[in-house]
Amino acid sequence: MQPKALILFGPPGSGKGTQAKLLRERLQVPHISTGDMLRERIASGDHLGVQVQELMQAGRLVPDEIVNQLVADRTSQADCATGFILDGYPRTLQQAEVLAVQLRQQGFKPVVIHLKVDYTKIIARIAGRRQCPVCGALYSLTSNPPQRPDHCDLEGARLVIRDDDKEFVIRERLEAYDRQTRPLLDYFAASGDPFHELDGSDGTPQEVLASVCSVLNLE
Ligand code: ADP
Repeated sequence: MQPKALILFGPPGSGKGTQAKLLRERLQVPHISTGDMLRERIASGDHLGVQVQELMQAGRLVPDEIVNQLVADRTSQADCATGFILDGYPRTLQQAEVLAVQLRQQGFKPVVIHLKVDYTKIIARIAGRRQCPVCGALYSLTSNPPQRPDHCDLEGARLVIRDDDKEFVIRERLEAYDRQTRPLLDYFAASGDPFHELDGSDGTPQEVLASVCSVLNLE
């Protein structure tokens, strides 16, 4: 069977990262998050990190050539041979077109899952989001709080609010989504590849995972 490239698609805060981490455990394939890769580069302070930091903190998208290259490098590594999960990519039409060619050449079958969530929920969700700066684990003050307030259950590190999770930046990110990313839905629908839409507004992460697994025909 052709290995799958699972594309998790949806607005910021729709739960792509959470679902990607759960699916990684379930399917034992790598989780490729362009947001996490870019944040790692910022933390490392290298040339690319310096270049993208301002854009990310303003809630704007990073240039296509940069993310296309990061993803192409990552998906050609050996651990991706049995498939992988893409989270936060593609986000523009140009990225989608480049990815389609690459997947075809490398022999991966694209499967898109669209997590739909309305914007009022998203703003509340992101505002309550906290992340472990060491392992990247995500917490929610309302639905998934850490056992010890403000500290990661796994690392014990003090949790942080991402710079781009401040409310005015969230609005920018939603606008960028509307303008540049949402139009991809028509592109996916027309591509003829499997395309599933799910309601990600309610339910626990495990319940949403169950819906994702059911559309993917996983037990
Ligand atoms: P979210 O999906 O919640 O917005 P991410 O961690 O996926 O969070 O992305 C955070 C930021 O990283 C984006 O606002 C953007 O600046 C940058 N980024 C991530 N993925 C891409 C991409 N595919 N293309 C361009 N910029 C990206």
